[in-house]
Amino acid sequence: MRARRILVARCENGYTMRLPWARDNAPDAAPGETDPVCRDLDCLSMEHCMEQHTDKALVVLSGGQDSTTCLFWAIRRFGQANVSAVTFDYGQRHRIELEAASTVAKLAGVAQTVLPIDTFAAIGGNALTDASLTPQTGEAHTDALPNTFVPGRNLIFLTFAAALAYTRGIGHIVTGVAQTDYSGYPDCRENTLKALELAIRLGMDAPRLTLHAPLMYMTKAETVHLAEEVGAMAAMAWSHTCYNGAVPPCGECDSCRLRARGFAEAGVADPLIERTARS
Ligand SMILES: [Zn+2]
Repeated sequence: MRARRILVARCENGYTMRLPWARDNAPDAAPGETDPVCRDLDCLSMEHCMEQHTDKALVVLSGGQDSTTCLFWAIRRFGQANVSAVTFDYGQRHRIELEAASTVAKLAGVAQTVLPIDTFAAIGGNALTDASLTPQTGEAHTDALPNTFVPGRNLIFLTFAAALAYTRGIGHIVTGVAQTDYSGYPDCRENTLKALELAIRLGMDAPRLTLHAPLMYMTKAETVHLAEEVGAMAAMAWSHTCYNGAVPPCGECDSCRLRARGFAEAGVADPLIERTARS
């Protein structure tokens, strides 16, 4: 079978930007290139469509470690006055997530919109909305997705975020999903995001609306360093990650373990652990 050709362009630092579809000025490149990804926050070519960098951004804020980091990344990138947040009340069992998102938005000094979506709880079958299920760990569930996977969650979140962005004239949507170092959720992968971005652009007649996933290729340790760099650590102390809704964090669930490993590998103390240990 013929290999899928990937068109690439170079950012201003000379790193490869992978593009799943053609751009007029992009040269052909061999598939499977493994160039490192540009980490320069000030590189306006860091992602595609950087000509829109002065536009407004809407951050999908769950109140967790990654979306908190992305909120401050967006503030650094677009300016505080141009950033707002959207949080989804999707019937999550642990309401502390919503409190965390609200606190983080306040600490960041950005406006937050909370949108209700009760359909995931009505569908059930996952441990984040169904109280009869206990969150599975990656070790216990290596051959399939763990029951913390909420099918379609990010697709729906980003589509509603795009609808809100469209209504408010916002050109950029920022999400904390990443395809490295996670539980293998398929809607956290770049190809899903690129396909969804294209669908949104076509379906909303918004050809420049852009989805940003700045953590996509970072390890958890790298996201910790990014959080430090963009000034997210004070708000990080009020973020919430634990799948079991525990404060202090349970330390046992997949989410707690990934977070702890990331901070350990980065050699940085988790401000959430420090705060909750004091209280
Ligand atoms: Zn936990």
